[in-house]
Amino acid sequence: MLVVMQEGASEAQTESVIGRLVTMGFTVHRSTGVRHTLLGGVGPQDDFDPAELEVMEGVKECHRIVSPYKLASRSFKPEGTVIKIGDVEIGGNRVVFMGGPCSVESEEQMETTAAVVAAAGARIIRGGAFKPRSSPYSFQGMGEEGLQIMRRAADRHQLLVISEVMDQSQIPLLLQYSDILQVGARNMQNFNLIRELGHTRKPVLLKRGIAATIEELLLSAEYIMSGGNYEVMLCERGIRTFETATRNTMDISAIPVLKKLTHLPVIADPSHGTGKRDYVLAMARASIAAGADGLLVEVHPNPERAASDGAQTLRPEQFSEMTRQCKAIAAVLDRSA
Ligand code: PEP
Ligand code: MN
Repeated sequence: MLVVMQEGASEAQTESVIGRLVTMGFTVHRSTGVRHTLLGGVGPQDDFDPAELEVMEGVKECHRIVSPYKLASRSFKPEGTVIKIGDVEIGGNRVVFMGGPCSVESEEQMETTAAVVAAAGARIIRGGAFKPRSSPYSFQGMGEEGLQIMRRAADRHQLLVISEVMDQSQIPLLLQYSDILQVGARNMQNFNLIRELGHTRKPVLLKRGIAATIEELLLSAEYIMSGGNYEVMLCERGIRTFETATRNTMDISAIPVLKKLTHLPVIADPSHGTGKRDYVLAMARASIAAGADGLLVEVHPNPERAASDGAQTLRPEQFSEMTRQCKAIAAVLDRSA
């Protein structure tokens, strides 16, 4: 149920509609738009007549949200969500670049990377400290020490940090060191984890599962939002298809589809989307052209020596060239970068 309050509706009128929704058994989520306050009533009631609320003082209109996800639906926040972290805005006019290695490996590696990504115009550094590896014998990440190393490098270069949380037990550590918590493709439907992230108040980047539909991705976002954490961004990172020429198939069409269905910012990860360094630049350009609000890209001072995902990792000069080209594409779309 979506209740749109009239422009200038008083707080008392809004409170009284909230009270009525609660009495009817709805959980109410409030969204303050540029002109209107929107009240999203999420609950078990399907046989309810919206006209009952429409007659209340201050109510402009009221209708059912027909999609299975409610809070993530564009109708809940038609103008789009902008996530603000310090002076960085994700989902606004400016396209945001996030770059860094797949895994944090050393102080020196992160210092060099931070200098490279900052100089290229990125505002956020990435790096995994807890790694979801297909093999239990592969490098599993540096854990807390890795987070400390990345935080120090980020602070020296005025960057924000994004890092992956694989398990509920890691949430406190990630909250301490990271500005954005990444949920990896393998964990998109780890419902205990995403429900718990709904109780935090840190922005979450939710990656699309390797075989997840767009609707499933949005339902996972709904898990986080229904806990009260509305700062969710979605990430297209390629899906598994019959194709073997690339590691995954980068679903560029998911970007405009998501922009239509949801108000949440959409980020593209052409590194995991292709699995091969040679294709990352083209897919980065395509993602920005398709309307992505930002890019998440792997870059390493020496990809041949990377502890993980070296084959898809850009060299420093390639990362700079990527941001240069993507800024030019953003400008054509009347966006800054
Ligand atoms: C990563 O970002 O390094 C990662 C493991 O990504 P994904 O979950 O998309 O595979
Ligand atoms: Mn990786």
